[in-house]
Amino acid sequence: MLNIVIFGAPGSGKGTQSEKLIEKYNLAHISTGDVLRAEMKNGTELGKLAEGYISQGQLVPDDVVIGMLANVLDSKNDVAGVIFDGFPRTIPQGEALEAMLKKRGQDVSIVVSLEVEESELIERLIKRGQQSGRSDDNLETIKSRLDVYKNQTSPLKEHYKTTGKLMTIKGQGDIEDIFGLIVEAVDKVK
Ligand code: AMP
Repeated sequence: MLNIVIFGAPGSGKGTQSEKLIEKYNLAHISTGDVLRAEMKNGTELGKLAEGYISQGQLVPDDVVIGMLANVLDSKNDVAGVIFDGFPRTIPQGEALEAMLKKRGQDVSIVVSLEVEESELIERLIKRGQQSGRSDDNLETIKSRLDVYKNQTSPLKEHYKTTGKLMTIKGQGDIEDIFGLIVEAVDKVK
């Protein structure tokens, strides 16, 4: 099983590169952001709870997201692997993911971290907000999300560096070139 964690700040290109990886390696895609947005759209209790956090650019509490991820993971059987997009975002989420995979006799194969300068992240997210109308792609919320990334999410990189799983890749430039670098790294652990 190929379990890829795609990691990076909001706007670093995780979604774009995930789509390409899914196609190439025939993986299931789990994007916690997409799952939460679908819950919001359907007006579920989970969606209502998540909305307040998402609109403020804050993280949805760990226990909620971890429970949700476990359910989604259970629904993905008979797949060649999974790409985790936007999860884990905190150290406890990282620990929970390891425990969940271990229970299934699996492990995280690789963590691909897309590195993009902050000024470019802001530019990309503002542009995305104009095109997609995502309510959290406005300047104030973008700034909160970048702070949350720095303070709560990026410490996970140290953790994955220690375990030898981390592969950092410059996420600026041509999309195909970036994808080529990711493929090179993934093929080594496959
Ligand atoms: P994304 O689409 O990955 O940028 O996620 C959009 C928003 O959903 C984030 O700003 C968080 O509020 C929430 N979210 C997504 N994934 C997680 C997660 N793993 N933990 C906590 N909150 C999350």
